Amino acid sequence: MGQQMASRHTGRPPDGRCRCVIIGGGPAGLACGLYFSRLNCETVVIFREDQRARLIPHTWNVPGYPDGIAGDELIERCKAHARRYGAAFVNGEVDQVRGTMWNFEVCLTDGREFPACHVVFATGVEDIPPDIPRVHKYVGRGLRHCPICDGYEANGQRLAIFGTGNRVARHALYLTTFTDRVTILLNGQGSPDDIDPALREDLARYGIRCLPARVAEVLDEGSEIRGFLLEDGTLLEVDRAYSALGIRPRSEVAQRLGVAVDERGFIKVDAYGATNVEGVYAVGDVVNADYSQVVIGMGQAATAAIHIHARYLSEG
Ligand SMILES: Cc1cc2nc3c(=O)[nH]c(=O)nc-3n(C[C@H](O)[C@H](O)[C@H](O)COP(=O)(O)OP(=O)(O)OC[C@H]3O[C@@H](n4cnc5c(N)ncnc54)[C@H](O)[C@@H]3O)c2cc1C
Repeated sequence: MGQQMASRHTGRPPDGRCRCVIIGGGPAGLACGLYFSRLNCETVVIFREDQRARLIPHTWNVPGYPDGIAGDELIERCKAHARRYGAAFVNGEVDQVRGTMWNFEVCLTDGREFPACHVVFATGVEDIPPDIPRVHKYVGRGLRHCPICDGYEANGQRLAIFGTGNRVARHALYLTTFTDRVTILLNGQGSPDDIDPALREDLARYGIRCLPARVAEVLDEGSEIRGFLLEDGTLLEVDRAYSALGIRPRSEVAQRLGVAVDERGFIKVDAYGATNVEGVYAVGDVVNADYSQVVIGMGQAATAAIHIHARYLSEG
């Protein structure tokens, strides 16, 4: 049966180029690779090793891992899982995809080219870090980006949150799900008056202060943050900090192919992950402006692979 399925799929289209190429080796791309491989599709996953998932020190909300799992280990397990069913991995940077469905060429910066019948973008996002001394030392440790991910572990803690305007106000209020000890740090960007009066009232009701001064020094213990000394002399002691400065989708390559994005650059997709360009799909953080989560990206990846197979590659 498996052999029969394999030959049926590699017989389509007539020139035999029935290869699904996934760009991105994070949880979404690797889950997509697993599903394609197990549907007997020739599968190539092209990626750099700078997955956002590798910034996760330990995730506690991936079902099936009650003791949590580090982002690095999750990635390696997902790779091994997809590899077991034949997915091929290519380390490299994609800078262009050209062509149309069945006849895409995925081009790397080093000159290699990979033919593809379908292409899935799972290229993720980049977090915008606050402008504080030695910021990269703290990312994923004392400095967090995602209270949905790890707010539970901050229950009752003293939290600072970086950002500006209404966005940081809403994120600060969200943090009250976990603690009533929240302080906003504008870090020299704008003023508390930039926040709408109604939101300012909500902040006051929850006892959330909004400090405008820049951070002069981070007080730390290794990569954990213990406090901030502000340029106006204020000392703020905290247990951890969050950034509400936002994320940048990595959608430039998709955009050059003509894939439509929203005003923030997130790829627009339908319920199956299909973009406006036939044969091109997108999954994971690069489509999720609001809910960037490992399991959400994996679910979208499974949906896209099943859909591509059922719609284009299956006889049934
Ligand atoms: C500190 C931190 C903690 C987090 N904790 C959790 C948590 O506990 N639980 C949870 O569910 N989520 C958590 N997240 C969010 C989670 O990391 C993301 O939702 C998840 O990694 C998204 O997976 P992805 O596959 O879409 O993108 P990524 O993991 O970012 O992978 C994107 C891939 O695309 C590749 N890529 C991009 N452009 C190119 C290109 N041009 N050529 C080749 N390759 C390219 C990258 O190299 C990478 O391999 C956390 C995030 C951060 C920052």
